[in-house]
Amino acid sequence: MSLQALSLGLYVHVPFCANLCAYCNFYRERPIKSLVQSYLIEINRELELWKNILSQRSVSTIFFGGGSPSSLSCRDLETLCARMQPFMPHVTEWTVEVSPTTINREKLKVLRESGVTRISMGVQSFQTDVLRCLGRRQTRVQVYRAYDWIRTAGFNNINLDLIFHPNLADFQLWEMDLKEVIRLSPEHISTYCLSFERPEGPFKPRDCTDENQETLCYLRTWDWLKNRGYQHYEVSNFARDGYVCLHNLNTWKMQEWIGLGPSAASQWNKRRFQNAHSIQDWLSTEKINCMDLSEEILCTDCLIFGLRMREGICLDSLQKRFPFVDVAKYVPLWQRFELEGLVNVQNNQLTCTDKGLLVVDALAREILNCVADN
Ligand code: SF4
Repeated sequence: MSLQALSLGLYVHVPFCANLCAYCNFYRERPIKSLVQSYLIEINRELELWKNILSQRSVSTIFFGGGSPSSLSCRDLETLCARMQPFMPHVTEWTVEVSPTTINREKLKVLRESGVTRISMGVQSFQTDVLRCLGRRQTRVQVYRAYDWIRTAGFNNINLDLIFHPNLADFQLWEMDLKEVIRLSPEHISTYCLSFERPEGPFKPRDCTDENQETLCYLRTWDWLKNRGYQHYEVSNFARDGYVCLHNLNTWKMQEWIGLGPSAASQWNKRRFQNAHSIQDWLSTEKINCMDLSEEILCTDCLIFGLRMREGICLDSLQKRFPFVDVAKYVPLWQRFELEGLVNVQNNQLTCTDKGLLVVDALAREILNCVADN
């Protein structure tokens, strides 16, 4: 596949949050004024570094993630958005993540007027006890008010993030959140499971419920949302027709993207770049870790991320894209997965079954083992 045929996304990591939630693993800092100003200057410098590539290629999607971009002041948000204007002629989707506690009408006006097309808001839960456990300061009222402002500002493509209720054995508790989110009727819903990686996180592993109950809860959630008009297009993502997140699809399909800001990664021209993690390192050093991507690595990543999507992977197209990889070496693996009811292979299209999607991380490990053995 020629490089020009790959679509190019632009990701900007805004590493600031007014409130640092206990469970969060993203890189973030409190928005101290001097740090934010240094950040904005450095983003300019990074854009200069990528200038040649960005002037030769059309950026098709932009994503401001974090952190919480809405923790920037109105003026700083305006400055950051202004830097994106040269790319606008070809941009089909521009997402900005916001938090219910820091977004306001004025900031939404800036985003709308700058050309932002999609807002993603971190709701996580409508239940006060869960929010408090997560260390989130927001209230239900703030969520409803923010949602109303987003709609009134003219956005017709909204994602709401939810975190699975910690007590997954009781579907009714989680269903309360699902019902509430449906009442708001966003175009897109993302559901996440809490990570226990941080020892100081709010939920200890003993809070995890019986595995079978959890499995049932996932399956019921998928059905529940599907019956209400949301297509389950990726393991954690649901969208109404025409509202899948194009930026994320671009990443999962291992196309190309430029990442700006601390901890951001880029993938371009068969190379992967990793920015310094902390803002201090990112500000003080030019060092970006860079790794060459062999066809084998890219092909493996296409399989691992492709299996997370309901549409799966066309094995013929994969072989054409990576002619130096023997895609047929995976056939015994697909046959075993098929026998176990984890995948289907029809007309060379590999897709996960529900059972496979539930253990998609384990399938990824088996794919990696297969690469290592060959
Ligand atoms: S607002 Fe989001 S990014 Fe910031 S600390 Fe909380 S979960 Fe993490």
